[in-house]
Amino acid sequence: MRYVSTRGAAPVLSFGEAMLTGLARDGGLYVPEGSPAMPPDEIAGLAGLSYEETAYRVMRPFVGDTFTDAEFRGAIDAAYRGFGHAARAPLVQLAPNHFLLELFHGPTLAFKDFAMQLIGQLFQIALARDGRRITIVGATSGDTGSAAIEAFRGLDNVDVFILFPEGRVSDVQRRQMTTPSEANVHALALAGDFDDCQARLKDMFNDFAFRDAVGLAGVNSINWARVLAQVVYYFTAAVSLGAPERAVSFTVPTGNFGDIFAGQIAKRMGLPVERLVIATNQNDILHRCLTTGRYATDGVKPSLSPSMDIQVSSNFERALFDAYGRDGKAVAQLMEELKREGGFGISQGALQALRGTYASGRVSEEETLATIARTHGDTGELLCPHSAVGVAVAEAQRDPAVPMITLATAHPAKFPDAVERATGLRPGLPARMADLFDRSERVTPVPNDLAALEALIKERRRN
Ligand SMILES: *Cc1c(COP(=O)(O)O)cnc(C)c1O
Repeated sequence: MRYVSTRGAAPVLSFGEAMLTGLARDGGLYVPEGSPAMPPDEIAGLAGLSYEETAYRVMRPFVGDTFTDAEFRGAIDAAYRGFGHAARAPLVQLAPNHFLLELFHGPTLAFKDFAMQLIGQLFQIALARDGRRITIVGATSGDTGSAAIEAFRGLDNVDVFILFPEGRVSDVQRRQMTTPSEANVHALALAGDFDDCQARLKDMFNDFAFRDAVGLAGVNSINWARVLAQVVYYFTAAVSLGAPERAVSFTVPTGNFGDIFAGQIAKRMGLPVERLVIATNQNDILHRCLTTGRYATDGVKPSLSPSMDIQVSSNFERALFDAYGRDGKAVAQLMEELKREGGFGISQGALQALRGTYASGRVSEEETLATIARTHGDTGELLCPHSAVGVAVAEAQRDPAVPMITLATAHPAKFPDAVERATGLRPGLPARMADLFDRSERVTPVPNDLAALEALIKERRRN
């Protein structure tokens, strides 16, 4: 399988190259050139398999010859070994025909671990083979950073720098980034919001001299390998509920659009997915876009679900690329307009294509709290505020005849303040990380300034 950029003007790469590169050199995102299909009998054959075996079968066609079968299987097994649940992604029932897919049993308690743990393993194999060193720089609204640090801490050929918006991540999120003591880990608290972090990261990727000098690699959700790893749990969940004979729908708490785009890949492979519902908090650019046809930025409003506090949704570019008939020039023009004018209108044809694939809903802060309280009362399940946004949209929009699977994207203990406000209960951390608040923190405050950031990274990285 080969990978092309959504802006049509970057080199075509293999899976391994696209994985190590992250953002394409034309500013676009890599997507697979073709679309491997999984016929119904192969989907049926996934029933009863382990998460790891399903992962191997679903992802293998996308990987090409970058890894041998044995390497790829070994990486998958190692990636999920540290999860706190034997099923990896267990399904819990909330109501008749409404299910919660718990994606928070990984080492940092958010769904990001599914992809990050795997790419940590894959990077290690690829770098050791080529004798290469890289510098990973990531921008995070909280969960990507902790997952990346957990996946790459202590690796010899990787330095990892994580930019997070100062004061806008939860205490648990921050401590997961600032307490690892390995010398290759650098948590940087940026004076700005998540979009500033993401913008400076993009600037670094577009500074080719810097990019090549430090061997810059990206592990944000723009990295195709991350999207791919997330395709797997759409299969395990749907097959558990009767796919391929029975279609299911998914509701996905959405920020940067990586997770829900993985659902679209699963659908394109042949998984019977009836609806893919985007659930947003008050930072609702995607919901407004699907409703009005105009994608327009509008400042970030800090919310109870901070991992979805974005105004630019990076992976949406991949959906636009498909909606515009894979016309990279058209996408590049839209992105130029976004940069210049803060927004763009979507053509009628593309909007129709997007609406044919995605539905959407927006949830207020009050509804988020009410959903946490109601779900706890009805089922005993404690939802994190992101998952609550998903459950609220799913309840409002679901067709009772079709199983709805809402993705629970983080563990409630990662956002204890919101959960306590809603229910009066303060969820405790799982035993394996119960001492998180006793560990000492290490963090560097940084300005929202490209030159200063680049200088710091050059100085701190090991050679
Ligand atoms: C990252 C994250 C999201 C948003 O996922 P995207 O792939 O960026 O849409 C939602 N919930 C939690 C808890 C997250 O960490």
